[in-house]
Amino acid sequence: MRKTLVTGGAGFLGSHLCDRLVARGDDVLCVDNFFTGDKRNIAHLMSHSLFELQRHDVTFPLYVEVERIFNLACPASPVHYQHDPVQTTKTSVHGAINMLGLAKRTRARILQASTSEVYGDPEVHPQREEYWGRVNPIGIRSCYDEGKRCAETLFFDYYRQHALQIKVMRIFNTYGPRMHPNDGRVVSNFIVQALRGEDITIYGDGQQTRSFCYVDDLIEGMLRLMDTPADITGPINIGNPGEFTMLALAENVLRLTSSASKLVFKPLPQDDPRQRQPDITQAKRVLDWEPKVALEDGLRETIAYFRQRIAT
Ligand code: NAD
Ligand code: UDP
Repeated sequence: MRKTLVTGGAGFLGSHLCDRLVARGDDVLCVDNFFTGDKRNIAHLMSHSLFELQRHDVTFPLYVEVERIFNLACPASPVHYQHDPVQTTKTSVHGAINMLGLAKRTRARILQASTSEVYGDPEVHPQREEYWGRVNPIGIRSCYDEGKRCAETLFFDYYRQHALQIKVMRIFNTYGPRMHPNDGRVVSNFIVQALRGEDITIYGDGQQTRSFCYVDDLIEGMLRLMDTPADITGPINIGNPGEFTMLALAENVLRLTSSASKLVFKPLPQDDPRQRQPDITQAKRVLDWEPKVALEDGLRETIAYFRQRIAT
């Protein structure tokens, strides 16, 4: 039985990861400070003998014995990570130092949930792992973007300096059940607004693009990356190359929810990237991975989740 730590395990992605790990027989320790996590995401696991929950903030050291660490702790939506930007940087940077220190002591293999935000507002399209990015170091998104960039630096320094087994995964926009209904991310916003009959808020002209990966595909890529041979470090992009404008996404959500909500246009937030699409050539080659769930199918699942959540 492998002892596996998931930081941020009560969050959207972390809870799905815990599900998969418990199902395959790992002995899972979920660590979370519940800043954006939700006990409902893991309630069904609480009585499972392979699952344990510890309330803990990763900006403080953690002393446990583990063999694998998935480091996901960090608020991911702009609304949440901008709420307390200093804590966001601390979570990424101090959190990475603490988890890397834990990996060094236990000789655990460690995976970092990095992000496409390390590419900033990119001049290269689609984004390949070799691209160094175009990030504003002093903007309102910088606490997250630069925090994640610094965490990547730390991972590679621990790899070079202490021969740690590291895996760095650059996650592109992911959606699915258990997203926080008020986290401000576009998929959850549009679905919740459509189901409640409220206006759909399009920021800017809605021509900016994103590529949306369904959570099950994402977690499969994460598990595959963790299990690669020691010489594979990444960084590696995991996301769905299907690229959509926010306007097209809104129209899809309206159609699938049969909602009569109206589209309204709001100012574009500062430093909002114009376009984003992963180049997943490496993921295909190294992990034999590519996403399988089409946007429409993933949206149907997510809409069903929010419909039930809103009703209760
Ligand atoms: P989420 O906000 O649902 O989950 C993050 C979890 O981390 C929450 O449970 C939160 O309570 C916990 N957390 C935050 N700060 C903490 C701290 N200091 N100590 C302990 N726990 C803490 O977000 P998510 O979408 O599940 O994202 C998970 C990870 O994946 C994050 O690191 C995020 O940056 C990364 N990521 C996600 C996406 C995406 O589209 N969902 C894209 C790129 C990267
Ligand atoms: N967005 C939008 N309406 C919303 C929420 C977001 O038009 O109600 C836009 C946002 O400006 C961005 C895109 O949707 O261009 C994706 O935003 P999200 O916060 O989900 O992810 P990120 O910008 O971090 O990729």
